[in-house]
Amino acid sequence: MERGCVWDDLLGQSRVADFLSKAAKDGTIAHAYLFVGPTGAGKKTAARSLACALFCDDDGCGTCPTCYRIRNGFHPDVRVIEPEGAASYVVSQVREIIHDVHLKPVQASHKVYIFDEADRFNAESANAFLKTLEEPPGDVVIVLLARSFDAVLPTIASRCQVVRFRAVPERSAIGVLVQHTGATEADARAALAASDGVIPRALDFLRSPTRRDARAKLLALLKRLPLMDGHDVLTETREVLGAAKAPVDELKALHADELAEHRELLGKGASTKPLEERQKRELTAREREGVTELLSVTESWLRDCLVLSQTSGGPVMNQDAADAAEEVATVITPRAAVAALDAVARARRRISYNVSPQLAVEAMLFDIQEVLRCPR
Ligand SMILES: [Zn+2]
Repeated sequence: MERGCVWDDLLGQSRVADFLSKAAKDGTIAHAYLFVGPTGAGKKTAARSLACALFCDDDGCGTCPTCYRIRNGFHPDVRVIEPEGAASYVVSQVREIIHDVHLKPVQASHKVYIFDEADRFNAESANAFLKTLEEPPGDVVIVLLARSFDAVLPTIASRCQVVRFRAVPERSAIGVLVQHTGATEADARAALAASDGVIPRALDFLRSPTRRDARAKLLALLKRLPLMDGHDVLTETREVLGAAKAPVDELKALHADELAEHRELLGKGASTKPLEERQKRELTAREREGVTELLSVTESWLRDCLVLSQTSGGPVMNQDAADAAEEVATVITPRAAVAALDAVARARRRISYNVSPQLAVEAMLFDIQEVLRCPR
């Protein structure tokens, strides 16, 4: 089926793309959708693509100023909303949005409201929202995003058309990555492991020499870990973390290009503030992601050790570090492998509690070192 280019962003979900683009074209868009599927399946991208398809004169070309504004998060008629409360959407927030819903669109024919984490409506905030969700003004489309259908309150879910996003099978994800970057299958698999299976992140990973370098440094460290003394572990951890921060400079260069493109597309007088705010958020996220990536690489390599230690074997995620994993696999017991994986989980938790990444990663590596030295 012919569809706007903006749907090409939706990797591995052609059924959903066909369904939504057709609805936009035929004018059969529902007033409320619930997009359900795992993290990284492309739910938010799909919601933005839907807005593009509705607003753009060319079915969502992906390149006109309208599409550009939507995809970059600063179209005045597309709002992405996250829970304001620590654990849930709060009533005052919902009331503010209901007020906004009844205002006319600023630039487009419609308004699109995208609610992230729709499983975080509690009974109170859901109650405040139900009437609007059931019967929003004719020019409003509400899109709710959630990881699982069952986690969403039935009162909310029953008022929406449900669109299911499937987890992209590893084989297709690898296919997409190879096709878009020309990487080898082994590199694509390693990128997925570093990015927790999230395809857009894996794409960025493959395109970033500095991120691949940080991964290589970490794997080299893991290989030598059993033989290193405490001082070496501390020094090299610092180096690896430094490498994990390097992509921030890469992103800054990209942002400068983006700012130039922004001015060219929207005119010199156009405000750059929303773009700059988004870029700032991206920088913070990138710094955090750099560390998460190190933990994911460590985790996937330990899993490789575990897989290789089983008689049935199986494909490894990190082909380029398979020799070291094989060596570990000959001596490690499943119990010891689980203990090492626990150390990674602990590091994740500590970082989410705001322990410094340096301290969390050091502690993790010392724990893993102990396991690797005595893998029973
Ligand atoms: Zn367009």
